[in-house]
Amino acid sequence: MTAAEDVTDLGPSQTQGLVCAHHHLYSALARGAPAPSQPPRTFGAILSEIWWRLDQALDLEILEWSAKLGALEALEGGTTALIDHHESPGAIEGALDVIASACEAVGVRVDCCYGVTDRHGPDGAAAGLAENERFLRAGGRGHVGLHAAFTCGDETLEAAAGLAAELGVGVHVHVAEGPEDAEGPRRLQGWATDDWLLVHAVHLDRDLPGTIVHNPRSNMNNSVGYAMPAQRPNAVALGTDGIGADMLEEFRLAYARHREYDVTASPETAWAWLAEGWSLFPEAAGDRVTWSYEPMDPWHLAFTTGVRPVEVIVGGEVVWADGAPTRVDGAEVRARAAEQARRLFGRMEET
Ligand SMILES: [Zn+2]
Repeated sequence: MTAAEDVTDLGPSQTQGLVCAHHHLYSALARGAPAPSQPPRTFGAILSEIWWRLDQALDLEILEWSAKLGALEALEGGTTALIDHHESPGAIEGALDVIASACEAVGVRVDCCYGVTDRHGPDGAAAGLAENERFLRAGGRGHVGLHAAFTCGDETLEAAAGLAAELGVGVHVHVAEGPEDAEGPRRLQGWATDDWLLVHAVHLDRDLPGTIVHNPRSNMNNSVGYAMPAQRPNAVALGTDGIGADMLEEFRLAYARHREYDVTASPETAWAWLAEGWSLFPEAAGDRVTWSYEPMDPWHLAFTTGVRPVEVIVGGEVVWADGAPTRVDGAEVRARAAEQARRLFGRMEET
């Protein structure tokens, strides 16, 4: 047993550091963004009219403060490790370093990837692949990212899978999130391996190897349907898909959505999905969070809202205490992030 696995020191008001297994730190500034001229009516329209306008408008300075705000909000939720999926087609090179540095500044662990896509032609795909490779070869912690099969040609899928295999990491990819990606599972079959992160898997028509990352709030928000993760043979972890990193909240949502589908569902199932984060990000298992509530038990937490961390320890260092981060000035991060949000919205209006 490693020190990280030894939980005998945990008191009734403590847990290990929580893990968000799918995040988009670039979207932390999206709230309040200018609305599309027409309300999108499909998942594809939500992507093209909201997210692809936003990611196009990002630059590295906006990204830095978006990531710092996202990391700060993770600590506020007792989340010490994030598995991030990034896209900024106008500012690709160096983007993963910006995210890693922003998280380091706040004291949150991060696993980075750049979501490769053919949406911006072969040069855009090549630049995305190169950013993954550059970051990972330099010793960065991460995956090789793919946006989703439906925005990539077969050559790009093959290149990403090949790079990941060569570097000994998995691929982090959205799979069958909406009906637009119905062909995705077929096209990824043969490439996917056990170390892949299969994000959403709502419309999966076959089993693929890898860990399914369930994002209940995002799936409800995009009206894509229920993923029924308990029906799958895969390991299942929980993510937020960029809507914060409050993993106790996501656990409660995962439980409530599961229970809506199956009245016999137990909170222990959703808790096991949350705990799967420690398989993906073992370092977080050695982090310690002291909470405002006890006992930190799934049957309590499923029905107890507003549980907040009192103290967060990452790698032996106190990074959150007395309602504030210790490495950064939380008020300054919020103010700078708000400034960058205004810049971002201005750039979105221009496009
Ligand atoms: Zn996502």
